[in-house]
Amino acid sequence: MLDFTDRATLPDAPREFGFWSDGSWHKGGALFERRSPGHGVPVTLTPRCTVDDLNAAVAAARRAFEDRRWAGLPGADRAGVLLRTADILRRRRDEIAYWEVLENGKPISQARGEIDHCIACFEVGAGAARLLHGDSFNSLGDGLFGMVLREPVGVVGLITPWNFPFLILCERIPFILASGCTVVVKPSEVTSATTLLLGEILSEAGAPDGVYNVVTGSGRTIGQALSEHPDVDMLSFTGSTSVGRSCVHAAADSNFKKLGLELGGKNPIIVFADSDLEDAADGAAFGISFNTGQCCVSSSRVIVERSVAREFEDILAAKMAKIVVGDPLQTKTQVGAITTDAQNSTILSYIDKGKAEGARLVAGGQALDLGGGQYIAPTLFSGVTPGMSIARDEIFGPVLSSFHFDTVEEAIGLANDTVYGLAASVWTKNIDKALVVTRRVRAGRFWVNTIMAGGPEMPLGGFKQSGWGREAGMYGVEEYTQVKSVHIEVGKRAHWIK
Ligand code: NDP
Repeated sequence: MLDFTDRATLPDAPREFGFWSDGSWHKGGALFERRSPGHGVPVTLTPRCTVDDLNAAVAAARRAFEDRRWAGLPGADRAGVLLRTADILRRRRDEIAYWEVLENGKPISQARGEIDHCIACFEVGAGAARLLHGDSFNSLGDGLFGMVLREPVGVVGLITPWNFPFLILCERIPFILASGCTVVVKPSEVTSATTLLLGEILSEAGAPDGVYNVVTGSGRTIGQALSEHPDVDMLSFTGSTSVGRSCVHAAADSNFKKLGLELGGKNPIIVFADSDLEDAADGAAFGISFNTGQCCVSSSRVIVERSVAREFEDILAAKMAKIVVGDPLQTKTQVGAITTDAQNSTILSYIDKGKAEGARLVAGGQALDLGGGQYIAPTLFSGVTPGMSIARDEIFGPVLSSFHFDTVEEAIGLANDTVYGLAASVWTKNIDKALVVTRRVRAGRFWVNTIMAGGPEMPLGGFKQSGWGREAGMYGVEEYTQVKSVHIEVGKRAHWIK
């Protein structure tokens, strides 16, 4: 019996999972072995599903949608399922967090906090299920009444990444289900366990069979087949901009399925000389180190007013040096392991590029040998110029680039000098400057004197090449609907043929 509390240890043998389709577990053929990135030992075995398995799951989701076992329920009943799911998650919080840690490498304290956020997502989703409504037009003249109905899009395909396997799932599933849609999820092959567990949790909470299905396997086979599937009405994808682009092509080449995309970011944090520099430095250190910087909203570019740049960077470097990097199962750990070998190599190659391109290394800059896993010290480069690759590319690791500015216009120009527009923040005690920058920086999420704050009531999504559409809150549930204009004649219709 595994212990999921603070005494948690590694499993003696990897746990084997089936895949979840049409309300029950199914055995797959070949298995994928996942090794814990923090410890280097095998922890889970998940099925390498076939395209036939995917087709069966899509067919189950289609049946569950068309016979109205879910969409036909009152919103209050869908809300009941979502609220009971929140209760079960509360009960199984430490267990879900445990598998997140073992497959992803994130620290256990952070993982538990993420499950709390997931519980809130289900509660907000329950509210959304009850509040979702259309509109009416009482302005079309006495002879006509107009209604705008919001209807579920249908069968949704959901492709999620490895950086926040359960959190990103839960920022979407409650809202997809609140709308009345059914869903087939394809998690990243390296972090499938908790997405699979949600199947049995939703079932226990009363979700009808076929409403939530999970098909595991690689992106290139199962992900690609899901994005091309002619019987999927909408695809929600979170991941890299390059795969997001391939999803757009797949949607166009198959059935013009509706798309929601949350892609990369190269997020600025603007620090004015009049800010509380200690606060701003703490925000910057957190913004780049949280989840080892493997976060679409990581603040990877700090843009600091030149008059305080040196002072600010010294405070920031001192804070970064104090971050506790280490075994993700230890509750004191703040930064855990890098999730995949490929990502580890990518991050280290960008650190080498930063050095080679002439940026000044102020903190970190190396892999850490902590035994068993792959760890990288939170890293700060100063004197970064806009042409450098560390200034432009999404590194997706704990590597922060510092730029300097003299005027508000220059700060805004640097912040917007990216193809991305996911998130941004500004730090100042001057309300005018805060509002000017908030209005002019092009990003879907914005923070003033804080960072990565918020809850599932607020919409998530990006400008520019960071994506299409919004997730979470009422905006999120509406993404999974389409509107139908209904025109009702009042009284006798005037005849066309006299
Ligand atoms: P991907 O975009 O490849 O992976 C995201 C999801 O898409 C995973 O479930 C993956 O499955 C799946 N996938 C992969 N190929 C296809 C395909 N052809 N069709 C459909 N689905 C597919 O990201 P990576 O894991 O390769 O990470 C690369 C970079 O992407 C990172 O360095 C980072 O810059 C960015 N990224 C951004 C994220 C964000 O939150 N915005 C999240 C993750 C990555 P599988 O993993 O099983 O192959």
